[in-house]
Amino acid sequence: MSENPQSASDVGAAAQRLDDVRKRMDQAVAKRGQGPAVELIAVSKGQGRERIKAALDAGQRVFGENYVQEAQEHWADLASTEGRPKLHLIGALQSNKAKEAVGLFDVIHSLDRAKLARALAKAMADQDRRPDLLIQVNTGEEPQKAGCLPGDLPELVRLTRDELGLPLVGLMCIPPENEESALHFAFLAKLAAGHGLGALSMGMSADYETAILFGATYVRVGTAIFGPRQPR
Ligand SMILES: *Cc1c(COP(=O)(O)O)cnc(C)c1O
Repeated sequence: MSENPQSASDVGAAAQRLDDVRKRMDQAVAKRGQGPAVELIAVSKGQGRERIKAALDAGQRVFGENYVQEAQEHWADLASTEGRPKLHLIGALQSNKAKEAVGLFDVIHSLDRAKLARALAKAMADQDRRPDLLIQVNTGEEPQKAGCLPGDLPELVRLTRDELGLPLVGLMCIPPENEESALHFAFLAKLAAGHGLGALSMGMSADYETAILFGATYVRVGTAIFGPRQPR
C-alpha cells in the first residue's frame, strides 16, 4: 500500500488522541452508570503504518478494518510485543471472501444475509476457527446501505444461531447520516435484547459517547484517533 510520509508530530498526535478518546469513553460509561464493559475498536482502514504503530505502542490492542485485502496488508507483519492484536471486520463482506475473513479476523460485524451465513459456516468448519459474529442491521432501511432489514432479522438470527450453530453474539448498525443516531442506537439495543444477544456494535467518531449511553459494548472509532484517512 502506498502512503504519505507522516511526520513525528502526526504520529504523536495519534497517541494523544487515543488517550483522549479513552478518557471520553470513561466519562460516558460513568454517566451511563451500571452496564456492560465497552471495548474500543480503533478503526485503521485508510491509515498508514506509522499511525497504526503509534496506537499499538500506546497500548491499543483491538483494531477494525473494512476490507479483507487491506487488513492482510496492514497486519501481515504488524504485531506488538504481546503478539498480534485482535482484529475486527467492520466492512461489508462478500461470500467469496468468507474463507480469508475467517482466517484473519477474531470478530466479524457485517453478517447481513443467509448466503454469507452459510459461507461463514463452511469456512469455520474447514478451518476449525470460530470468530464471533454480529449481524449488521440496516436500521434506517436505506436502499444503498448494507445490513439486514429489521423485518428480516428474526429469520437470519434463527438460521445463524439455531440452524447453523454459529457463534452469534450481537448486532451492529450504522445510522443514516442525517438522522439522530440515538434513535437508531435505542432501536438496535431493543432488537438485540429481544433476541437475547449481548453485544452491541454502535458509535463512531461523531457519536461514540451517545452510543455508550444507549448500551454499546463495542464502539468503532477511526478519524478521532488517527486523523483523516487517505482516499481509497
Ligand atoms: C470507517 C468506519 C468507522 C470509523 O469511522 P470514523 O467516523 O472515522 O470513526 C466505523 N464503523 C464503520 C462500519 C466504518 O466503515
